[in-house]
Amino acid sequence: MLMEFLQPESLAEALAAKAAAPEAVPIAGGTDVMVELNFARRRPPTLLDLTRVPELAGWSLKGGRLRVGAGVTYADLTGERGGDGLVGPLPGRLPGQLPGLAMAARTVGSPQIRNRGTIGGNLGSASPAGDCHPMLLAASADIEAASLRGTRIIPVDQFFTGVKRSALAPDELITAVWISPPAGPEQFAKIGTRNAMVIAVAAFGLALHPERRTVGTGIGSAAPTPIRAREAEAFLTAALNDAGLWQSRAELPLAVVTEFADLVSAAARPIDDVRGTASYRRRALAVLARRTLTWAWNDYGRGRAAAGGEG
Ligand SMILES: Cc1cc2nc3c(=O)[nH]c(=O)nc-3n(C[C@H](O)[C@H](O)[C@H](O)COP(=O)(O)OP(=O)(O)OC[C@H]3O[C@@H](n4cnc5c(N)ncnc54)[C@H](O)[C@@H]3O)c2cc1C
Repeated sequence: MLMEFLQPESLAEALAAKAAAPEAVPIAGGTDVMVELNFARRRPPTLLDLTRVPELAGWSLKGGRLRVGAGVTYADLTGERGGDGLVGPLPGRLPGQLPGLAMAARTVGSPQIRNRGTIGGNLGSASPAGDCHPMLLAASADIEAASLRGTRIIPVDQFFTGVKRSALAPDELITAVWISPPAGPEQFAKIGTRNAMVIAVAAFGLALHPERRTVGTGIGSAAPTPIRAREAEAFLTAALNDAGLWQSRAELPLAVVTEFADLVSAAARPIDDVRGTASYRRRALAVLARRTLTWAWNDYGRGRAAAGGEG
């Protein structure tokens, strides 16, 4: 069967093509799509190449939030590409603006995959193991989706609707991700069977939000979709506020760290599969949660030291 290959050169053309052929499969870096085609898991009648759509590239600061184009690659996020393709008005590079996402991007695949793979493609695949997702959840990011009908914003915790399923309508494309520049430390950690080129067995993202005195979390690879550990967030937020820890930046009580880790582990709904058992994933998540909280809180404490006293 012949496959049609569409190559729009603007967002308007891409949206018109998707509206005319909603079954067309968008292709950005192709690092998921080409695997599916090569293994004959999918044979779409039409591929919609997004790599020539300028509106999906680059990033900018608008209304105090970062708008990261769907076509931004992992190499852009880590800075491996040297920032050459980035067209943001900000001084400084994207990795410095989004440290948690840069950490997650550094764990993805190999240099080749990081050069091609995009944040929009990660969301498009909507895998429970996608490495961007825990940090996007922890940062309360929003997904910008567009169609000929208009543009809408989907909060990331409403974007994932099932295993590899998302809230995207058949005629919609992901155009960007909106994230507030973090005001506090972020951390990401994942466990796999080796250090590189591995799908996470479990992953965890944590963001401290001192400006609103809350914390954000994201769990990967341990539920049908990426999820937030809401009880853990509420517990830690209350514990930090009740003890005045945002102000004092004092060491975290061990009981708080342990309870947070247990609540993160309890939030997971993992399965046994070839990569790991459900009980291993729960255990691993508790360890990841404890470590990331300790690292992030140490960073926050160092903020006081750097400022020379009370924060
Ligand atoms: C060897 C290897 C290692 C990998 N390692 C990792 C890893 O460590 N962590 C990880 O998270 N992933 C990993 N992946 C998976 C993959 O690289 C990522 O999911 C990547 O982000 C996909 O981006 P892409 O641009 O290549 O997407 P594509 O393959 O082009 O597309 C992926 C999906 O998203 C859809 N899509 C793409 N762009 C849009 C858009 N703008 N709007 C709507 N839908 C869109 C496509 O139709 C498709 O369904 C790996 C893949 C390989 C082959």
